[in-house]
Amino acid sequence: MTTTADVRLGNESTDNEPLLVVEDLRTHFMVPAGAVKAVDGVSLTLERGKTLGVVGESGSGKTILSRSIMGLNVVANAVTTGSVRYAGMELVGQTPKQMKHLWGVEMAMVFQDPMTSLNPVVKVGRQLTEHVRQHLGMNKSAAKDVAVELLRSVRIPEPEARFDNYPHQMSGGMRQRVCIAIALACGPKMLFADEPTTALDVTVQHQILNLLAAQQRDRFMTMIMVTHDLGVVAGRTDDIAVMYAGKIVEKAPTGALFADMKHPYTQALLFSIPKTSNPKHTRLTAIAGRPPDLISPPAGCKFAPRCPYAQDRCREEEPTLTVPDATGHQYACHFPIGTSESEAAFQRNLDAGVPQTLAAAGRVQATDDLDALERIVQTKVGAAPAGASQEGGH
Ligand code: SF4
Repeated sequence: MTTTADVRLGNESTDNEPLLVVEDLRTHFMVPAGAVKAVDGVSLTLERGKTLGVVGESGSGKTILSRSIMGLNVVANAVTTGSVRYAGMELVGQTPKQMKHLWGVEMAMVFQDPMTSLNPVVKVGRQLTEHVRQHLGMNKSAAKDVAVELLRSVRIPEPEARFDNYPHQMSGGMRQRVCIAIALACGPKMLFADEPTTALDVTVQHQILNLLAAQQRDRFMTMIMVTHDLGVVAGRTDDIAVMYAGKIVEKAPTGALFADMKHPYTQALLFSIPKTSNPKHTRLTAIAGRPPDLISPPAGCKFAPRCPYAQDRCREEEPTLTVPDATGHQYACHFPIGTSESEAAFQRNLDAGVPQTLAAAGRVQATDDLDALERIVQTKVGAAPAGASQEGGH
């Protein structure tokens, strides 16, 4: 079996194999109330040089998935099972000491908020050189040359002068560029970008995403981009995996997903993106309700309480991912979008005044509180929100 040392030395198994193979990965956090199933049976494969977008709301498990692959969930109550094979080496079960050899050199992460990932009382130059010296064993002067070049490569103006800046002396966009430079410093083969643009304004977001794409292309890195925004990954990733309640609910090549999305949750994420073609002050279409309790999630499909298409079958039987079609598209849904069955299901729920269906149809305003939504429905529509059977019974 390949060891951490083999991977460091480039003795890993053949380059024709996918760089990353994840199988039935689970990360549960044990708390007094039970097990929080943050990642619950995720499988995926990532070829070298490809970019995967992992999309979902807060709490969907996308960040914990990245951290589980990198072995960063080092808290005492985290239990990770399943398999993560990186360059032929099994990572699940490795100690932090063993994983340390891979962090930075083989795999690195750009975190969400540069203000919390950078040390505020240390100059950015030193934060870069420390990283380079620790991992690559360079002397101080060589490390400084590398650091200045890295700052230049992420398009920091006047990198020699900026080398001596503290993080607070830089703009948000510049700080995130420094974080990207630190992540790239040791030439990792795999980069995780966890909501890398959330804290930035739209123009800077665009620049940072372009920078990441250019670096990924130039260095032939494999990348996992984690985001809540389907718009961020459209056109920037090869494949997309949509996560809900710790599981992948839809997975496809990016073009295939946007051409024919099948899962109601993916569709709801798409509808929640602001569109420049909409008139000013257009209200965004929120997804009704909240993500489920991950300690005791509802039976059946975890999205059923919020899904405008939900039927009795959904509440009884948990859907599993379909066999991939010719494009590699998979989804876990009993009433996939675009079928006559889903249209009939939607209409039955609409006729029954199911709150999330009325919200999806624009009849009432969606809210993240389903009880509040039911009250709105009762007030505005006068219909009894169907808590009763919805399949064929209306
Ligand atoms: Fe889940 Fe049913 Fe909605 Fe599909 S239609 S997402 S199975 S609740």
